Amino acid sequence: MKKMPVLFIGHGSPMHALHDNDYTRTLGRLGREIERPKAVVCVSAHWLTEGTWATHMPKPKTIHDFGGFPKELFEIQYSAPGSPETAELVRETVDEPQVRLDDELWGLDHGAWAVLRHMYPAADVPVVQLSVYFEQPGAYHLALGRRLAPLRERGILVVGSGNVVHNLPMIKWSAHPEPYDWNVEFDAFVKTKTEEGDAEALAGDSRGMPGGALSVPTPDHWYPYLYALGAADGDRVRWEYEGLENASISMRCASFGLK
Ligand code: ZN
Repeated sequence: MKKMPVLFIGHGSPMHALHDNDYTRTLGRLGREIERPKAVVCVSAHWLTEGTWATHMPKPKTIHDFGGFPKELFEIQYSAPGSPETAELVRETVDEPQVRLDDELWGLDHGAWAVLRHMYPAADVPVVQLSVYFEQPGAYHLALGRRLAPLRERGILVVGSGNVVHNLPMIKWSAHPEPYDWNVEFDAFVKTKTEEGDAEALAGDSRGMPGGALSVPTPDHWYPYLYALGAADGDRVRWEYEGLENASISMRCASFGLK
């Protein structure tokens, strides 16, 4: 079996689930370009836990984990099956830390389904979500991402879903606002370090990186990037989408291991 690539998807506003634009068409293209995976393992910024968990239910529910959006968004159901055997494979592949299996708590949150409904609109690729153990530092998430790399040989597509830059309190809702300097700076820093293959430089305290303090005010949307970087295992990056939205969000999307 061919080795699967790895993706990091900047997901931004849940409204993209309903949009048809350059960004969502990029996701559709990736879904068609990448050989059909046996399952997706998605590390979402929206499942923050104590310990590391994988969804283990055969039919994960669609979770609408946001407020203040139109009814249309709450009506979306993404009915992709789960994959208990993939969750078990994740647990076996990652010897340390222990991955716990969730049979009832979670399902698919919008970090997963808002992206996957563009990649796999028929919802016919099984999906397992992996949680973010929020109290752990960047090094934990990079190391765990590295332990996911062997799954790629088993037909599993690892997808990190978050945002390289994500500062909600500073969002501007005007049509095309100028991005903040710190957004430009951190986004460029991540791009450079990724191209240099310097994952370690990104696994430290993001507050000490150029523009990092305001770009990563809380690390929930940043950590999924480290999973993708880890699972990439040194494979070359290809930037699938770049763009700064709402002044304080980076929509940067990356693939690793795609020619
Ligand atoms: Zn989000």
